[in-house]
Amino acid sequence: MGWRERTEEWRREALGWAAPRSCACCGARSSGALCVPCEEGLVEVGGDACVRCGLPRDAWEGAPEDALSSCPGCVVRPPSFDSAWAPWRHEETTRALITRTKYRGDALGAAELCEIAGAALVERVRELDEREGGVTLTAAPMHRSSLRRRGLNLPAFIAWRLRRSWGVPLEEGMIWRSRRARRQARLGELARRENVRGSVTAREGCPPVVVLLDDVITTGATANEMARALRDAGAQRVHVLALARACA
Ligand SMILES: [Zn+2]
Ligand SMILES: [Zn+2]
Repeated sequence: MGWRERTEEWRREALGWAAPRSCACCGARSSGALCVPCEEGLVEVGGDACVRCGLPRDAWEGAPEDALSSCPGCVVRPPSFDSAWAPWRHEETTRALITRTKYRGDALGAAELCEIAGAALVERVRELDEREGGVTLTAAPMHRSSLRRRGLNLPAFIAWRLRRSWGVPLEEGMIWRSRRARRQARLGELARRENVRGSVTAREGCPPVVVLLDDVITTGATANEMARALRDAGAQRVHVLALARACA
C-alpha cells in the first residue's frame, strides 16, 4: 500500500472517530447515530419481497396474492441482476438521511449511516457469500464531475467501511461511468432505461459473483445497466445491495 492510500485510509478512519453525536438524519442532538423519532421513521422492506428486484409484495401491481415469487414487472421483463435487496423502504426518513449525506458530500453523516446500516448490509453479504461460495463487493460508480461537485461517493464510502470493519472482500474500480446520464428523478421507467444505456463500463475479467452496492434502488434501471455491464465483462451473477428501495 502506497502512502497516498495510507493517508486516505487514515483520513477515512479519522472521519469515523470524529463523528459527533447529532442525528445523521435531522441534525438534532442525539445519544445514538439517529434521534428517536428518526429511528422510528425507518421502515423496513420486510421479508415478503420480489426475489429478483426486492419490491415488497404490498407494492406489486395486479398480481394474484402468493402466486408468484417475482413481481409482475420482473416476470414481464427480468432484470440483468439476480437479486436486489435493501434493508429500508425509501420513504421520508430514509430519503432525508440519504439525501443529506449524498448530495452534501457529508462524510460524517456517511460514517453514521454505516453505523446504522452496516450490520444489516454485512449480514446480507455473508448470506450471499455462503449461497454463492464467494462474492466480491464493488460500489456503484459516480461520474467524475458529480464526484467533484459532491465530494463523496456514498456507495464507495460505505463499501470501504464494510471492508474496513467487517473484512468484506472489496474490489474498487471494477465499474465506472463512461458517460454522464441525465438526472433521472423525473423520468419514467422506460425513459430511465434509455437514459442510462451505455453509461457504465466494467473492466474485463470481472469476478464470477459480484455484489454491487448502491444507495437507492428506484426503478432498478441504473442497477440493471450496471449489472449488464458487469455481465458483459465476465460476471456470471450480480446481486444488488442498497440502503433503500423505492416502493411506490
Ligand atoms: Zn433525527
Ligand atoms: Zn421484481
